[in-house]
This record gives sequence, structure tokens and C-alpha cells, in this order.
Amino acid sequence: LKDYVLSGFPKESDMDVNTSSTIKLMVPEGSNAVLVKNLYLSCDPYMRHCMKKQPIPGSETYIESFKPGSDDMNYEEFDVNAKILMGEKPITGNGVAKVLDSGHPNFKKGDLIWGMTGWEEYSLITATHTLFKIQHTDVPLSYYTGLLGMPGMTAYGGFYEVCSPKKGEHVFISAASGAVGQIVGQFAKLSGCYVVGSAGSKEKASLLIMRVDLLKNKFGFDEAFNYKEEPDLNAALKRYFLEGIDIYFENVGGKMLDAVLPNMRVRGRIAVCGMISQYNLDKPEGVHNLMALVWKRVRIEGILVFDYFHLYPKFLELVLFYLKEGKITYVEDVAEGLESAPAALIGLYTGRNVGKQLVVVARE
Ligand code: NDP
Repeated sequence: LKDYVLSGFPKESDMDVNTSSTIKLMVPEGSNAVLVKNLYLSCDPYMRHCMKKQPIPGSETYIESFKPGSDDMNYEEFDVNAKILMGEKPITGNGVAKVLDSGHPNFKKGDLIWGMTGWEEYSLITATHTLFKIQHTDVPLSYYTGLLGMPGMTAYGGFYEVCSPKKGEHVFISAASGAVGQIVGQFAKLSGCYVVGSAGSKEKASLLIMRVDLLKNKFGFDEAFNYKEEPDLNAALKRYFLEGIDIYFENVGGKMLDAVLPNMRVRGRIAVCGMISQYNLDKPEGVHNLMALVWKRVRIEGILVFDYFHLYPKFLELVLFYLKEGKITYVEDVAEGLESAPAALIGLYTGRNVGKQLVVVARE
């Protein structure tokens, strides 16, 4: 990141791809860091918050700003050798990587891991507590950026733990074809719910239709609609939810949330996972229909994936079972090469991605 992006939509030109030579591919003597070769990098909507100088109020404990520029790098956590190794400090994010060298007792050369790494070919990771060792390699490794990684855990915690679904309930999901949404929808179908998703795109009409088809055919949603072609979101929701919505999995916020509120059923639940429609606005939109929470006795709860990592083994067992039984599927949008990463990341905020957006740095 060249500099903080204080307002508006991030642009490709806000980021630079730098080439600096790697001097030492080894963990410095006495360090318990892990040296990895990055394979797959995850593009996630929260990364927009990291481009701001200050975390947004309330997010301080969870989100750290990226350290932009190349002159004033913060190398405090690295020793001298590592500093040479790292060169400039890159954007950080979730990824899948292979261990090349390790000073940490839990990781050894040849291990595959997923967790927080750098947007670069090789990373020296000191924050090893964020790393998970990959035990199951008979599935696409890239899935650990999505279905089997952070977005999967978000869907699992948010849907099962917060929404407490019951068979036959009516579920609505926004950004339903994305990294999290497509999993929530499939969990909801597997729970015997009636499921509707919304999706949209500024791209060609054919892609829009394809995406809605994707929701209906690939993931087995009962209904799907392109919200950008709906002049009245309230009317669209009434069309699909004659008796109202029991569970709303909120990914976008803004106008969609406002339209959903009066359409909730009594004792409905809303899991607020994210509000991507607001991330690039200087002034967030107001929500007007909050009184519906009172009339309908609706429970609305924010979710953060960090709260569910202790459930990871249980989650993994369930999803691997579904995957192997052919009961769950996952669509990825794969960008090739580190140089395509800036475009891939900013594409999230205009809906250019179809499915989980990731970047391939190397395949092995
Ligand atoms: P997606 O794969 O769904 O990609 C983002 C999608 O958001 C785009 O493809 C686009 O889909 C939609 N979108 C972009 N801009 C807008 C807009 N202005 N209005 C409406 N929709 C828009 O991302 P994820 O599945 O990774 O993330 C989904 C949500 O979950 C985000 O809000 C994210 O911040 C949140 N999240 C929260 C976590 C937590 O712990 N709370 C963890 C992970 C994600 P379309 O073309 O269909 O509009």
C-alpha cells in the first residue's frame, strides 16, 4: 500500500508491486518465527478498513492498519536478519503457505499452514499464534482461504451459533454468492430451511444472470434475485417471503438492511456479519426501520469470526464430511500472480468477484 486510503473506493494505483531481492531464506538463529513460501492469498472485504490510518471506532482490538510506504517501516518485531529478508513491509492477510524453515516447535519444514501472512512470495511470520497447520491435504489447498478457512468459520459461527436455525425456517442472505454467503446458504439448505439469496453486479447483464443462475443451480438455493434490477427492495423481499423472514444473514447493510427489517417475522434473528455497502462511503447511510425490531421482537447480533476459532476442529470435521459426500460445493474466483492482487482486492467493492476471491502466488 503506497499511502493510506482515507476516503472513497480504493484503486489499483493505491498499491504497488515491488521487486526486492531475497537475501536469506532462513529463520534467524534463536527466533521462533516461521519462514514460509506463500501459495494462495485471500482477498477479504475487511482489508478496506486496514487501508485507513485509524481503525474505525470500535474495531481497534481487531483491526490493525496496514503500514504503507517504503521509508518509514516498522520492523520492531523483526530482528536484523529478518529486516533484510523482508525488504519492504507488504499488505498482510490470510493465506495458505508452505513452511520452508521454522524456529517454532509446532511447525516444521514441509508443513502446510493457513493463517495471517504477507502479500509477498516469502514471509517470515512471527505472529505464529494466527497459524493453523493443514492436516487434510486431499482437498484443494486454496479452500483454506475460503470454505475451510476464515470465511467458512464465519459462516459456521454466524449461522449455527447466532441464528440457531430450525427446519422449515425462512432464510435470506445478502452477497449470497460470495465467500461467506455461498456457505451460509448451503448450511441453511442442509438445515432444511427455505433459502433466498441476493446478488448483483455492475458487469454485463449476462454475468448477472449467470450469477443468479449460479445461486439457484449450483448451491441449491430456493430463490435468488439480482438486487440491482429491483427498483423496490421491499417489494422484492415480499415476493419471496410471503410470510416474512426468520433469519437474515447480513453482509451488505444500508438499503438492504432497511428493506429487510419490516419483513422480519416475530422472533426473527439477524446475524450482522458485515456491511460492505458502507465501507467506502465517507458518511454511512442511515437505517430508518429500526422500530421493526421492537414490533417483531427481533434479535440482532453482530458476529466476529475470532469468537469461533475454538470450534475450528468441529467445523472442519463437518465441512470435510459434507465436501466428501458432495453435499457442499464452493466457487472461487482465482487471480493469477501477485501482480494481479491489487485488482483482485478492489474488485470486491464493486462486485467483480464471482465467488471467493483469491490470488495464486505459487501452486507448490
Ligand atoms: P464476498 O465474497 O461476498 O465479496 C464481496 C461482495 O460484496 C461483492 O462480490 C459484492 O457482491 C458485494 N458488494 C460489494 N459492494 C457492495 C455494495 N455497495 N452493496 C451491496 N453489495 C456489495 O465477500 P465475503 O463473503 O468475504 O464477505 C461478505 C461480508 O462478510 C462482508 O461484509 C465482510 O466484511 C463480512 N465478513 C465478516 C466477517 C466477520 O468476522 N464478521 C468475516 C468475513 C467477512 P454482489 O455483486 O453480489 O453485490
